[in-house]
Amino acid sequence: MAKKAQKTSYIVGNWKMYKTIDEALEFLDTISASVEKANARVMIAAPYTALKSMSEKNPTSHVVIGAQNMNDASDGAFTGEVAASMIKDAGAEFVILGHSERRRLFHETDECINKKVKRALQSSLQPIVCIGESYEEHEQKQTEEVLARQLTAAFNDVDAKDIAKCIIASEPIWAIGTGLAADPKTVANINTSIRKILADIAGEKEAKNMAILYGGSVSKDNAQDYVQTEGIDGLLIGSASLQPETFAKIITLCAQ
Ligand code: PEP
Repeated sequence: MAKKAQKTSYIVGNWKMYKTIDEALEFLDTISASVEKANARVMIAAPYTALKSMSEKNPTSHVVIGAQNMNDASDGAFTGEVAASMIKDAGAEFVILGHSERRRLFHETDECINKKVKRALQSSLQPIVCIGESYEEHEQKQTEEVLARQLTAAFNDVDAKDIAKCIIASEPIWAIGTGLAADPKTVANINTSIRKILADIAGEKEAKNMAILYGGSVSKDNAQDYVQTEGIDGLLIGSASLQPETFAKIITLCAQ
C-alpha cells in the first residue's frame, strides 16, 4: 500500500434519515473527545431538523455541520422543499449534493445537481459532490466514463475558483450499504482518474488541491486502510457514522 504524504483527512458522516435532535446532541457529546484530538476535518451531514441545535453546540464539539440535500431555487412555491439560504441560516456549512440515493430514489439528474452546486456556492455552502457508477457500469468497465460525465455535468458553467471550493466523494453505487467495499488500491486509481478529469475541467492547480473522498461500506475495520493510502483524502461514511462509539473509533484510527 502506498504510504501517504501528510495532508488533512476528511471524515464525513452521512446520517441519512436517522436521529432526532436529542440523539444528535448526545452523539456530539460522545464523539467530542476524539474529535478534539483528531488531526482531521470531522463533518456530519445531519437531518434538516437537527442542524440548528447541532450548530449551536458546535463551538464545543469542533464538528462541521452540514445538510444532505437542498433545493436549487432561491425560494418559491415548492411545498416540502428546503432552500440553501435556510440550511445556511440553520448553521450548515456544507451540503451533500448528488448522493446516489437522491439520483436513484428521487430522480435527480446531472442537470439538477449542476443547479444545486451553483446555488450552494452562491450561498457560501461547501458542496460535497457525490459521483459513482452502478454495478453494471463497473462490470462493463465504464467507471471512468461515467465519473467524467457526472463531473463535467455537475460543474457545467461553474468557475474554476468555485469548483476548487468543492469536495468530491467517489461512491460506487454497488458499494453503498452492501458490505462490498472497494479495495483501497482500486479507489486510489479511480481518484487519480478523477483528479485528471478535474484538471481538465478546472485546471491542474485547482484539481491538485481538491479533496477526493471515498464512500461505500466503510467500517471501523477498513477505514484506516483508505486514509493511509495516497490519493484518498478522506471518507464519506453512512451506516458506520450512526453509532457514536464506532464513528469515534474511526476518527481516532484515521486522524492521529
Ligand atoms: C453513503 O450513504 O454515502 C455511504 C457511503 O453509506 P455506507 O457507508 O453505509 O455504505
